[in-house]
Amino acid sequence: MKYFIAANWKMNKTLAETREFLRSFVPAVQKVTDVDVVLAPPFTALEAAAEGLKGSNIQLAAQDIFWEEKGAYTGEISSVMLLDAGCKHVIIGHSERRQYFSEEDVIVNRKVKAAKKAGLGVIFCVGESLEEREAGKTFDVIKREVELGLAEVDPGNLVVAYEPIWAIGTGRTATSEQAQEVHAYIRKILGNLYGNKAEDVRILYGGSVTPDNVDSLMACRDVNGALVGGASLKPESFAKIVCFKKEN
Ligand code: PEP
Repeated sequence: MKYFIAANWKMNKTLAETREFLRSFVPAVQKVTDVDVVLAPPFTALEAAAEGLKGSNIQLAAQDIFWEEKGAYTGEISSVMLLDAGCKHVIIGHSERRQYFSEEDVIVNRKVKAAKKAGLGVIFCVGESLEEREAGKTFDVIKREVELGLAEVDPGNLVVAYEPIWAIGTGRTATSEQAQEVHAYIRKILGNLYGNKAEDVRILYGGSVTPDNVDSLMACRDVNGALVGGASLKPESFAKIVCFKKEN
């Protein structure tokens, strides 16, 4: 299965910073053919990024979407607008959206459906908090988020990202064993939903991925890529992650 590695820039980078990043990142990964490389800049930088990525092997993603196509929804951005800006994918259900913007599973599900209907690829995020992990609720949380978030959603053009909240931006990465354990569980739930097609859904790990830990995480059987925050902001470090060392 082809790996999928995406940069989530969150609320970082101006237009000038976006262009500067691309000037060195695009040539650094131009020979990469065995990884789908994806960049998710903030909305304001999408157009500049699309321009800088023309003719490259890098795909553009947005960090969020609203489920209606147009209308009186102040501040929101629709699938039509994302496609128009050159996006191929959209991140949905990131823990920061769930935590700071009260996005519950039913909202996440609406967004996933709208994105898929429009033909956008979906990077669907799930993950437990530290409190939930310590209370032994990791699998319950993951099951609920996957089943509700993906209700009535087919597996085509769908990527799932497992992002334990305690590992996001903390420098505390899940061990390969912890990641594999949850990834295998996600695969099992996807199997209940999709049968054999679950084998083709790429499951990304996210949470303090760096050039130093990417090789061992990507070597896990059910880890098919990464969603990278902090370490994707510098072109050198994100290029190193994309060019991780594959096991034979
Ligand atoms: C993220 O929030 O998607 C993420 C993985 O962040 P970081 O790599 O900084 O932990």
